[in-house]
Amino acid sequence: MLTSEVEARSILTRTTGYLKTVCSHSLQPYRGCPFGKALCGVGCYVQHNRYVTQGRPWGSFLEVRVNAAEVYARDFAREQRWARRSRGGFVIFLSSATEPFPPSESRHKVTAGVLEAMIDRSPDGLIVQTHSRRVVEHVEVLKRLSRLTSLRVHVSIETDLDVIPGLPRHADPIGARFDAVERLKREGVRVIVTVSPLLPIGDPERFFERISQVADGVVIDHFIGGDGSANGSRTLRTALPEAMSRIDPESTDLSYRDRMCALARRFLPGRVGTHIDGFADRNWS
Ligand code: SF4
Repeated sequence: MLTSEVEARSILTRTTGYLKTVCSHSLQPYRGCPFGKALCGVGCYVQHNRYVTQGRPWGSFLEVRVNAAEVYARDFAREQRWARRSRGGFVIFLSSATEPFPPSESRHKVTAGVLEAMIDRSPDGLIVQTHSRRVVEHVEVLKRLSRLTSLRVHVSIETDLDVIPGLPRHADPIGARFDAVERLKREGVRVIVTVSPLLPIGDPERFFERISQVADGVVIDHFIGGDGSANGSRTLRTALPEAMSRIDPESTDLSYRDRMCALARRFLPGRVGTHIDGFADRNWS
């Protein structure tokens, strides 16, 4: 993977499309993602964004936005004003197009710098979205932020299956991500498991029972309706649906999501979010 250091001109992106109902801004500390060649990268919708990839294969590059914290601090007041006036609040999604805690974050400390900058300049709301157990390395700053802003950490755990035949391995083991969720909750940080995109689940009852024990809630989203295209057409062009079908043919149908939501509600009543509503922290059932 080609890693380069770049100076970002801006870091707070005003949201459009489906993210607009979730938050006022997205913030990407990196461009590209080192998990792009892992399992989550197979169906990752960012790979279809030509502005991000500029023709490069997904998972082959990582641009480290070394001045992210500085640019955040510089633009904070202006973007806060705009968001409060136009969107009813300054809520940041970190991150919608990259992994905020890639392995090299321990060296580059870009996300760490942004989180520190948010201590002095807190948004009204912050959603931290990750596939990585490394989020727990930031538990102290997250605890401080949870006293300053409406914070929730979303940890993606799309299935209980360690291996999906025909697809690459998970970037981070499922057990390690569950441990991270448990630790965050124990430390008082609000944490939601995002089952997104929903993959076939081997033992759904055990899976949702485990989530109910360690997380504050669960959000379930299917690639149909959830990948930003009509009827999941982006994901249908990838290897994901065929691999899902081989395990459970019903899992590629939207009704599978509804069945899993119904089951999840048995273990997490009032703590199940669906599709974009779940990401936006509304309509829990
Ligand atoms: S971690 Fe997120 S951005 Fe990176 S490949 Fe996986 S789904 Fe895409």
